[in-house]
Amino acid sequence: MFKIGAHLSASKGYTHMYEEALSIGANTFQFFTRNPRGGKARDLDFNDIALFNEKSKDNFGPILAHAPYTLNACAADDRIREFAYITMEDDLKRLEHTPGAMYNFHPGSHVGQGVEVGIEKISALLNDILFPDMKTTVLLEAMAGKGSEVGGRFEELRAIIDRTNLSDKLGVCLDTCHIYDGGYDIVNNLDGVLEEFDRVIGIDRLKAIHLNDSKNPFSSHKDRHEKIGEGSLGIDAIERIINHPTLRSLPFYLETPNEIDGYAKEIELLKNLRKD
Ligand code: FE
Ligand code: FE
Ligand code: ZN
Repeated sequence: MFKIGAHLSASKGYTHMYEEALSIGANTFQFFTRNPRGGKARDLDFNDIALFNEKSKDNFGPILAHAPYTLNACAADDRIREFAYITMEDDLKRLEHTPGAMYNFHPGSHVGQGVEVGIEKISALLNDILFPDMKTTVLLEAMAGKGSEVGGRFEELRAIIDRTNLSDKLGVCLDTCHIYDGGYDIVNNLDGVLEEFDRVIGIDRLKAIHLNDSKNPFSSHKDRHEKIGEGSLGIDAIERIINHPTLRSLPFYLETPNEIDGYAKEIELLKNLRKD
C-alpha cells in the first residue's frame, strides 16, 4: 500500500485531521504537537482521541508527530535545553494515547559548541527521557546542515543512536529536501545514497520520508522546501523515490508549501506516478 500523507493543522484535533487526510486522498498525516515556535500544548481531548483511534485502526497511519522547531536538545543555553526536556517529555507522554505513532524531531543546533558536544547532549537528553515500555518510535530527522545543525551527516545520526541506551526506540526520518540540500545526491545517485545510509546507519532504522522538493540547488545547506516537481529535485527524481524498492513501503509525508487543495493535487499526482 502507498502510504502518503501531508502536514496538517492540529488545531481542531485528531479526528478532524483524520477526516481532512481522507478528503485529500491521504492515508496518514503529520502534525505539530504544539505551536512550531514552542509554547504550551492544548489539553488532550480524550473523546476526540478515542474516536480517532477507532476510526483510524484499519489502513491508516502511522501518524507522525513533529516536535516544535525551537526544541534544541543540544542548546548551549540551559533554559533552552530545559525547554527541550520538558517539551519532549510531555509530547511523548501524550503520544502514548495514540499507540504506534512516531515522533520526529530535529536533532539540534550545537551553536558553536562543536558537533561532538552536540551529539553528546542530544543522546544525554534521549537517555533521560525515553522509557522502556513506550509505544512511540522517536525519529531523528536528517537535516540540511544549515548553520550548526547536527544530523546533516549520516555519521552524526549514527553517533546519536550509538550513545542512546534505549536505541530500539529510535529511527530516522529522511527529508528529501534536506538530504539533497545536505549533499546527498538522490537525483543522480539514489541507489548510492541508500547504500551509504545502510552502511553507516542501517536501513532498518529508516522509518519515514518527508517528501519535499527543494528551492535551492544540490548541496546548498539552506533548507527551503518547494512544491513537488517544481524544485531542484524534479518530478523524475520524486518518481524514482516513491517507487524505489527500499523506500516504497515507508510512509511519505508532504511538507511542501501548500494549502490543503495543493496537497490534494500533489497526492493525486504522486498516486499517478506510483507503480503497482
Ligand atoms: Fe522537520
Ligand atoms: Fe522535514
Ligand atoms: Zn525542512
